[in-house]
Amino acid sequence: MRAAVLHEIGQEKLEVLDDVEAVGFGPGKVKLRIRATGLCHSDVSAMSGVLPQPAPFIPGHEGAGEVVDVGDGVTGLSAGDRVLVCWLPACGECPSCKRGQTQLCLAGFMNAGTPNFKRPGGDVFGFAGTGTFTEEVVVGAGCAVPIPDDVPFEIAALIGCGVTTGLGAAINTAQVEAGSSVAVIGCGGVGISTIQGARVRGAAQIVAVDPVTSRREAALRFGATEAVAPGELADAKQRITGGEGFDYVFEVVGKSATARTAYETTRRGGTLCVVGAGAMDDTFQVNMFELFFDEKRILPSMYGGGDVLRSYERAIALWRAGRIDLESMITHRVRLDGINDALDQMRTGEALRTCIEL
Ligand SMILES: [Zn+2]
Ligand SMILES: [Zn+2]
Repeated sequence: MRAAVLHEIGQEKLEVLDDVEAVGFGPGKVKLRIRATGLCHSDVSAMSGVLPQPAPFIPGHEGAGEVVDVGDGVTGLSAGDRVLVCWLPACGECPSCKRGQTQLCLAGFMNAGTPNFKRPGGDVFGFAGTGTFTEEVVVGAGCAVPIPDDVPFEIAALIGCGVTTGLGAAINTAQVEAGSSVAVIGCGGVGISTIQGARVRGAAQIVAVDPVTSRREAALRFGATEAVAPGELADAKQRITGGEGFDYVFEVVGKSATARTAYETTRRGGTLCVVGAGAMDDTFQVNMFELFFDEKRILPSMYGGGDVLRSYERAIALWRAGRIDLESMITHRVRLDGINDALDQMRTGEALRTCIEL
């Protein structure tokens, strides 16, 4: 079958090959036919080595499709079911799952070092234990979450990562208060979802911050009340908050420099919510005096910062009610052969989300 493979960490282009096989099917596993997959910034970060990932590997973790086959012992799923791919499945047994913080369950990562694919030349890994830039993939049953019939595959795919991450940051983690002031630094697919989450929560001002003009324009369509380039943020802070700082600032880039800007843009007693996934050697610094004296809450948010299945349901409910717009987030579409164009669109910031149709 066909799949897009990265041969070595640090390479910029994927190679689309047709000699790849999905492996690992057996008890507790399901085989999926992927129909749509989004390109998430984490895929690019894994390719460049910012996020740890063994190679060669197939990127993609934001996908949806149909169940092809179900292994022994799998309940609640059968061939033909429409599902989205959850890259962080909940085991249901560990202390984090029992607390309802299934986004912190590590059970799924236990399989991340096991190859999901093979080629005549050897083993191939799947990103984050999934790997959706492919026609078929074998995953644990917990990674296949049934979706209602009215949710198209391309919308379900986005809910599988970017939308859940962004909405959840505003709704679960920061719990944005009605009437508050919000700044969102980084307006790709996740940042746009954060903006939509802040709007759903009733924020009065939502300032979108991004260096790319097309993203600033998009942010305004999705609910930002104002959109500025990074160099204009200090002025916006002065103008909108009287210099005090925003009630909530979301860092959706994953770099210490933007996290520091976000910290300084948050008001005393306000909330800095870190959504971006960054590198292990990039250190965020806060001195002990400001940490104590300014009483800013620093809240990291991973995969929406709450029960993942509940977050999916909520995203679907808000989408169905027309309270969030997910269709317009898909700005580009390609077939698997166009995957390198999709990567370019991601790197230039031209695309909010590129949907790869399979
Ligand atoms: Zn667990
Ligand atoms: Zn993602």
